[in-house]
Amino acid sequence: MFESLNEKLSLALKGLRGERTLTELNVAESIKEIRRALVAADVNYKIAKEFTDKVKDKALGTENILKSVKPGELMVKIVMDELVALMGGQAEGLNLNANPTIILISGLQGSGKTTFTGKLANFLKTKKNKKVLVTACDVYRPAAIDQLTVIAEQVGVQIFKDPENKEPIIIAQQAVEFAKENKFDVVILDTAGRTSVDEDMMTEISMLKSKIQPQETLFVVDAMTGQDAVNTAETFNARINFDGVVLSKMDGDTKGGAALSIKYQTGKPIKFVSTGEKMDALDIFYPDRMAQRILGMGDIVSFVEKAQEQFDEKEAKKIESRIKQNKFDFNDFLTQMQQIKKMGDLKSIMGMIPGVGNALKNVNIDDNAFKKVESIIQSMTPQERSNPELLNMSRKTRIAKGCGKNIHEVTAFIKQFDEMKKMMHMMSKGNNMANMMRNLKR
Ligand code: GDP
Repeated sequence: MFESLNEKLSLALKGLRGERTLTELNVAESIKEIRRALVAADVNYKIAKEFTDKVKDKALGTENILKSVKPGELMVKIVMDELVALMGGQAEGLNLNANPTIILISGLQGSGKTTFTGKLANFLKTKKNKKVLVTACDVYRPAAIDQLTVIAEQVGVQIFKDPENKEPIIIAQQAVEFAKENKFDVVILDTAGRTSVDEDMMTEISMLKSKIQPQETLFVVDAMTGQDAVNTAETFNARINFDGVVLSKMDGDTKGGAALSIKYQTGKPIKFVSTGEKMDALDIFYPDRMAQRILGMGDIVSFVEKAQEQFDEKEAKKIESRIKQNKFDFNDFLTQMQQIKKMGDLKSIMGMIPGVGNALKNVNIDDNAFKKVESIIQSMTPQERSNPELLNMSRKTRIAKGCGKNIHEVTAFIKQFDEMKKMMHMMSKGNNMANMMRNLKR
């Protein structure tokens, strides 16, 4: 898998290994090679160009503060991060909360729908402990029902079928009723495909979707078809607005284009990859692991990550000691904010706290709040940043003008900063809550 892409990317990055600094010239050369490698892997030119533009900006924009990391190594890490981002960042699971959860499987004929239906049933049964019903809604190909029957038996789940019935919607409705009566957790609907996108198939699958209202609609596509896979995905998505993609036949000689560009082109995440004909040949799609396979060079990436962690740790210790000495200033504050931003957006950071994730689902956390604070601090002189007590009214007015905020916003932020500083200083001294409140009132 991805052999040629891997080779070409390695070559593109190898040139930078010996360089002492990243310059416009050496970065541009490497970037050109990376873009070529992506296009050869069947990534469309626009995506490849955007990708390499981002890598270039980052490479030239980040001053390498990690003394132990060579510029070429930093570049490998930048490419890795961008590959992960291109494929969606984080793994996306299935929504299995409904009772029963209905999962609709769509895709062209031969893409691997029926095989995936069996694999998914097996996965949900063995890994998630679910009682699964598979349903044969392909009424056109008689062999399709038999194929699903064999697969269901193989993985040990029940099948719902009605060979006399030629109405997929009715079969699906009956299957859902049957699942409710018999307390199944999940119903998977295997549908009919055609050899190419056609109107009848699209009408049928979109009607099925609107009548049955599945919690998950998955689109299965043969990864070996490269750019075609992406085009078919776009067409299906425009009609049925699916929730996720399954890349099948990833064990074959795939160039990588589909894996790299489907998320970008459709906005929908890849949820699973299918890697063989056996029923357990199914993997959850993890963008970071996939990027790792595409780029290789795991040793360099983890080396850079470690150096970054050590650097972060050193910075954290420095700030801790400044808090203890009550010397925390706006520079430290900026550093802290940048650390947080490195971890992702505010909402996803808070979402990692157990129990908070779901509660935040419908809450809009404004990342712009960060920007506002940043712009206020950036309008201060270096002297003011390291001596917050200098900030009198005339300085505050000047800062407000400089960052285009009103004076109240600036004053409010500085007041908050002072309070936070006091609080952190007290906490660092291990004061108890009562003392802290008393001191705060002073
Ligand atoms: P459907 O028409 O979409 O239901 O496709 P099938 O599930 O019948 O699959 C078509 C062919 O591809 C069958 O021969 C499968 O065994 C094969 N197939 C499906 N998934 C994979 C896979 O991940 N790897 C490989 N090598 N073959 C697969």
